[in-house]
Amino acid sequence: MLEFDDAQSRLAAAGTPPNITETCPLHQAHGRVLAQTLYATLDLPPADNSAMDGYAIRHADYTAGQALPVQQRCYAGVAPEALQTGKTIRLFTGSLIPPGADTVVMQEDGTETDNALLINQLPAKGSHIRYQGEDVTKGDQLFPMGTLLGAAELALLASQGYAELTVYPRLKVGLLTTGDELVTPGQPRQDEHIFNSNAPMLAALASNMSAEVVHVLHAADTAEALDSAFKTLLQDCDLVLTVGGVSVGEKDLVKPAIEQLGGTMDLWRVRMKPGKPVALARIQGKPVVCLPGNPVSAYAVFTMLVTPLIRNMQGRAVVLPPVQYGRLQTVTPFNETREEFLRVQTQFNDEGLPHLTPYGQQGSGIISSLPWATGLARIPANTTVQGGAVVRYYDLKHWLS
Ligand code: AMP
Ligand code: MG
Repeated sequence: MLEFDDAQSRLAAAGTPPNITETCPLHQAHGRVLAQTLYATLDLPPADNSAMDGYAIRHADYTAGQALPVQQRCYAGVAPEALQTGKTIRLFTGSLIPPGADTVVMQEDGTETDNALLINQLPAKGSHIRYQGEDVTKGDQLFPMGTLLGAAELALLASQGYAELTVYPRLKVGLLTTGDELVTPGQPRQDEHIFNSNAPMLAALASNMSAEVVHVLHAADTAEALDSAFKTLLQDCDLVLTVGGVSVGEKDLVKPAIEQLGGTMDLWRVRMKPGKPVALARIQGKPVVCLPGNPVSAYAVFTMLVTPLIRNMQGRAVVLPPVQYGRLQTVTPFNETREEFLRVQTQFNDEGLPHLTPYGQQGSGIISSLPWATGLARIPANTTVQGGAVVRYYDLKHWLS
């Protein structure tokens, strides 16, 4: 049986990062991965500007009780005049600081009458100014190659005037569910049928990872159905994920179908629970990962073993997100011969380490544990872990993105 950590590193290395790049407009770059390291082309802010609605003054011009005539009303987006001695310029948040001015008086700290400002409360020299370059300095590295672009990254790149980015192509993923017992929600169901949970689950998991889900196919447990589905998937996708049909039962026909197509197949029993049977095949140079059929097992295996492969194939710099620590909250100890990944909820508190509460039922058939969980807590194999013990956990918001 393969150790979990070995399986994770083998899968992470089972694909190759993209070797082609493309140009993408900034507004379509959400979920794309940078294929170049980007640097600041501008200071940010590009010039000193006002942090407040108020008045620009030269601090030395202040005399108590003496009003300063308003020389100009300088709205954001308007070029300021040079400040004359003994005068003030009305400013608004984001207005440029006029040459000669060194301080902004908040409007709440002054009274404007007949186009002149009486300052009631003189701020310290230099107050309420956002200085050129205080946020970003021209030439700073913004993002290294391999950064996944989300809302925050796009905001910074837009502020730097980047209109187009060099990115990697979106990873094309194809999904194949298998099993004669499965029906699609919306179709009639007999007692002997169950609804197909893995198809929408895996499609959502893959698109949350910013992959493009090109096909979601289902094949009955026949050699012909599997063969035809594989051909479509291999033609259109970079990575194929199958689910179910990969054990050693009579209807487990995925392995023969892969071999029939000239694929090589490593079937592993991974020392993890839920999970265990996971296969990595390669057909026509493309990786195919075969996941266990139980939705809970498929979810755990996807999270722990498939996401590193996807990130690597996307060209992302960070393939393994951080592993965190928390304190297990349980009255019954856990002890398994495999690494166990419990569906847990994380509670943050003042104590330091978060508390990890396992879902009441941890069976691999318990789909209701999935929407409940915020993380997977890792119980080491052959170790009795009591309540209060510190264990590793994998935060789903990091691991599933
Ligand atoms: P298998 O490996 O094909 O024997 O599947 C293992 C278990 O997972 C069986 O109980 C299947 O019915 C169940 N299963 C397989 N695929 C799905 C699916 N797409 N949705 C829900 N359950 C599934
Ligand atoms: Mg099956």
